[in-house]
Amino acid sequence: LLRSDGSVQEIQAQLIVGCDGAFSAVRKQFLRRSRFSYSQTYIPHGYMELTMPPADGEFAMKPNYLHIWPRNTFMMIALPNLDKTFTCTLFMPFEEFEKITTGEEVMAFFHKHFPDTIPLIGADALRRDYFRLPAQAMVSVKCSPYHIGDKCVLMGDAAHAVVPFYGQGMNAGFEDCIVLDEMMERFEEDLSVVLPEYTRVRVPDDHAIADLAMYNYIEMRAHVNSRWFLFRKRLDNLLYAVMPKAVIPLYTMVSDSSSRIAITFLGFRRRLSRVFVLHRSPSLELRTMKQWSAGTGKTK
Ligand SMILES: Cc1cc2nc3c(=O)[nH]c(=O)nc-3n(C[C@H](O)[C@H](O)[C@H](O)COP(=O)(O)OP(=O)(O)OC[C@H]3O[C@@H](n4cnc5c(N)ncnc54)[C@H](O)[C@@H]3O)c2cc1C
Repeated sequence: LLRSDGSVQEIQAQLIVGCDGAFSAVRKQFLRRSRFSYSQTYIPHGYMELTMPPADGEFAMKPNYLHIWPRNTFMMIALPNLDKTFTCTLFMPFEEFEKITTGEEVMAFFHKHFPDTIPLIGADALRRDYFRLPAQAMVSVKCSPYHIGDKCVLMGDAAHAVVPFYGQGMNAGFEDCIVLDEMMERFEEDLSVVLPEYTRVRVPDDHAIADLAMYNYIEMRAHVNSRWFLFRKRLDNLLYAVMPKAVIPLYTMVSDSSSRIAITFLGFRRRLSRVFVLHRSPSLELRTMKQWSAGTGKTK
């Protein structure tokens, strides 16, 4: 271990768990071994977080919604926080972020694309916060296996960083924990059996989440603007309502914690599956993803 004071310490451990995030140092050691498959993809978009403060002590927008402003090649979303603020995340190609270099350009951009958010975020805050941090990169990492012998295992983003558009990255990490725990119990903590079995079960599910997240990247910023897409969503849910055993919408299946690609972190699940609000020009609002797909959304 390299300590923060620069000292190096050697430690013997029975098991090393690499849960050190998307740029995992533990995973780097896996790369030196043969028969370790690895790929990483940076998407051309970056993200920037802006804060929408409370208005008169209350949420500035309806809190039980995921607010989306889809603009085809880019989008902004807003998620509520416990302190009654919203975190607004702007996803946009890096070169578009880089074109905006002054406070006036920020305001012109927001006037053109997100005019309804200006009074809610505040013009001064927008001019200031846009330049607080550069836009951050998003990477999708797939690898296999997740273990080395009975000595080392990868979990969470270290094993499977995904782009954030399916809202399941952290959930997949929690599911890694549940599966490893179940394996430990089932195979009486025999790591030579537990770790290969953990890889066997988790790799396909995590790779599926990575692909779904990449697909949703296009769906959230572009497809939701299409009437055909909205019709299909409604049809999906109509069929689900009529034949719940035969036709299950994909997101419903994925976010069902009893299914294999299961989502266990209920806070995120509630946030993402409960309500979607789409802001068009200036705003189109559709209710919960389920309601939305079921055709009971409302526009404003
Ligand atoms: C914009 C955005 C939105 C997201 N939204 C959602 C969402 O709605 N729902 C969802 O489920 N997920 C979401 N995610 C994904 C989620 O944030 C991650 O999947 C989750 O944080 C991964 O957790 P982790 O513990 O594996 O890694 P991390 O949270 O990255 O934690 C890794 C830890 O390891 C430490 N570390 C790193 N390197 C070293 C080292 N060499 N030595 C010691 N320590 C080290 C780091 O300091 C950190 O504490 C989102 C991600 C982004 C970027």
